[in-house]
Amino acid sequence: MGGLKLFFVDDETLRKVAALFGEEAVTVVEILEKVDETTDFQIADQTEIRLNTVRKTLYRLYDHSLVALRRSRDKETGWFIFHWRLQPDQLEGFIFNQKRRVLEKLETRLRYEKSHEFYSCKTPGCKRFPFEEAFELLFTCPACDKPMSYVTNNKVIETLTQKINQIKKELSE
Ligand SMILES: [Zn+2]
Repeated sequence: MGGLKLFFVDDETLRKVAALFGEEAVTVVEILEKVDETTDFQIADQTEIRLNTVRKTLYRLYDHSLVALRRSRDKETGWFIFHWRLQPDQLEGFIFNQKRRVLEKLETRLRYEKSHEFYSCKTPGCKRFPFEEAFELLFTCPACDKPMSYVTNNKVIETLTQKINQIKKELSE
């Protein structure tokens, strides 16, 4: 891998990084993708993110092998210098696994929705209950005491199915 090899991290991946590691991580990743290797000092310099925060962010990414670390010693001060490099393959794999996990959760939820009938008092803010629980509650809402009746979950099933299809499509790309 030569010194000129640069990486492109797509927006979708950056959004995932932001959700998982915070907005600072996005800034850090965006800098790392433009260089082969850089130090935490240089990142702090370029971004006005405090050095401590830059380091914390880098270590969190490092924990998931999303960045690699190389140490050298400053010849004058004798202190360690930390050189960081993005691991784009790891980043892709990481996001892929995250998506897989979300997909599994959604599929479990969809199975649950499809195999249950729900009852509710239809008061905003009150919960709905699957048949078995509603039955035990004698079809009376435990929060507001109103009678509960059948509510369709077609919308929920539709939304879940759409999300599942979307993620499946992304995973197969
Ligand atoms: Zn209620």
